Amino acid sequence: RLMAFTDLSIAKDAKILPIQTIGNRAGIPEDALELYGKYKAKINVELLPAAEKLGKVVLVTAISPTPAGEGKSTVTVGLADAFNQLGESVIVALREPSLGPVMGVKGGATGGGFAQVLPMEDINLHFTGDIHAITSANNALAAFIDNQLHQGNPLNLDPRRITWKRALDMNDRALRQVTIGLGGPAQGIPRQDGFDITVASEIMAVLCLATSMEDLKERLAQMVIGYTYDKEPVLVRDLGVAGALALLLKDAFKPNLVQTIEGTPAIIHGGPFANIAHGCNSLMATNTARQLSDVVVTEAGFGADLGAEKFMHIKSRKGGFHPDAVVIVATVRALKMHGGVDKTLLGEANSDAVRRGMVNLAKHVDTIRQFGVEPVVALNRFVTDTAEEIAEIMDWAKGQGVAIALTNVWEQGGKGGLELAKLVKAELERPTDFAFLYEETDSVEEKLRAIVQKVYGGADVLLSDKAQKQLVDIKKYGWDELPICMAKTQYSLSDQPKLLGRPEGFTITIREIMPKLGAGFLVCLTGDIMTMPGLPKQPAALKMDVGADGEAIGLF
Ligand code: ADP
Repeated sequence: RLMAFTDLSIAKDAKILPIQTIGNRAGIPEDALELYGKYKAKINVELLPAAEKLGKVVLVTAISPTPAGEGKSTVTVGLADAFNQLGESVIVALREPSLGPVMGVKGGATGGGFAQVLPMEDINLHFTGDIHAITSANNALAAFIDNQLHQGNPLNLDPRRITWKRALDMNDRALRQVTIGLGGPAQGIPRQDGFDITVASEIMAVLCLATSMEDLKERLAQMVIGYTYDKEPVLVRDLGVAGALALLLKDAFKPNLVQTIEGTPAIIHGGPFANIAHGCNSLMATNTARQLSDVVVTEAGFGADLGAEKFMHIKSRKGGFHPDAVVIVATVRALKMHGGVDKTLLGEANSDAVRRGMVNLAKHVDTIRQFGVEPVVALNRFVTDTAEEIAEIMDWAKGQGVAIALTNVWEQGGKGGLELAKLVKAELERPTDFAFLYEETDSVEEKLRAIVQKVYGGADVLLSDKAQKQLVDIKKYGWDELPICMAKTQYSLSDQPKLLGRPEGFTITIREIMPKLGAGFLVCLTGDIMTMPGLPKQPAALKMDVGADGEAIGLF
């Protein structure tokens, strides 16, 4: 019956409440809401009442994703709705979708079925313009840099060593490498440049990790734009434009309030990818949600090796908190793929493949336990799953002493997540024994090894010649005490996208290390990972249209 529905048709039929009603539910005073139409608002956090105590944090992560889809956002939204049904004060905090994946392959990031946030068309398209503001700030800085080169180069910037790139929120492989400034002296200084997708830009990370306007400005000022002819770093501070960039971001910096289909308040803010960036919604969003509710359900992108690792080591560390509970989302379909089944054969029952694929889930459970948190597994049910396949996973969990709930939030909304919510609630009531897997003061090599060995389950890490040279400079400038932001394929625990399941004995190669002083981490590029994705042969855009009435068509 449900197969006839699309996420968009379900969202369109849902009853959506005025955003003031949702603000009221969340305890946000009316004057702290800045309305963006009827169903979206920015929250002016300066006008929120002080909280007596901060809410607990539930982090939702997943097994390594496959093209079969895991439904992490869907479970995140459904779990928050389930808490709401249990009478808990709860807010769901999510990332803003990027137009690259929306037009490309992945689809939206607003959940699915009866576990969605509304208005899904707006959120998946331009929303409140935050990502566009980040793109503008990013490219304004690029323009200031090229202008100063053109105007006599008072900063002595070496045009060959400018590291700041332009950005666009689209998958556009043709812009990975570009040459600018051609056409003669009046058109600027020719140099090689390139574009990153906006959601991988440092400004996105800065916006997501800043805790106040002052902090935002300071982080923007700290961003490295390149090096002089004497190889000394040049920062935004030296250009004197941090204030202008912060001004461009003044509204984007405020968290956005929307609602789930069941009327649970949702804060959606910031949208870094989890493979090439740090993969979590903004600290402003999480902190605001904690200030307003007893429980915050939030998501970190892709598998626990990416988003969750970075949530722990980067976001939590900066935010001064850690997750009180962690949910790992798994599906029969994805486990079958980890067990060696081709995507085209996922419709056929195959308990053996599920059993083989369990190694991937087992590794992620082990990783979360290493952080001192006892995970709860959410088995996101698809209509094609058979009883035997499900039993395979349930039996494994029982044998391992892992709490597990079969969830059906896609079909039933919060009701389908009640059992999961009860298990998570039990974890929230238990103290965690949280521990980082590395300290910031460890050497860069030690930090990398900790991630590769403890989180990816690999043997060792290797630095390319280029990365080794970069590391020498990083140490020289005293930037080696920053946490690591790994850029790695999401599909495999290793840096080879085709190695599914639980590869072992592999070595991760660090191709390049990029200091991001504003964000406050070192980005380490592994394998062939790109910071500007491309579109697939049949982009999702081919199915999209808009009706004469302005209604979205074919948005998943
Ligand atoms: P992720 O966050 O892991 O990328 P999403 O929650 O965005 O995944 O879900 C991806 C797609 O899969 C969405 O279109 C959603 O409607 C669909 N989906 C998720 N869970 C289910 C389910 N149990 N049954 C059918 N479709 C589902």
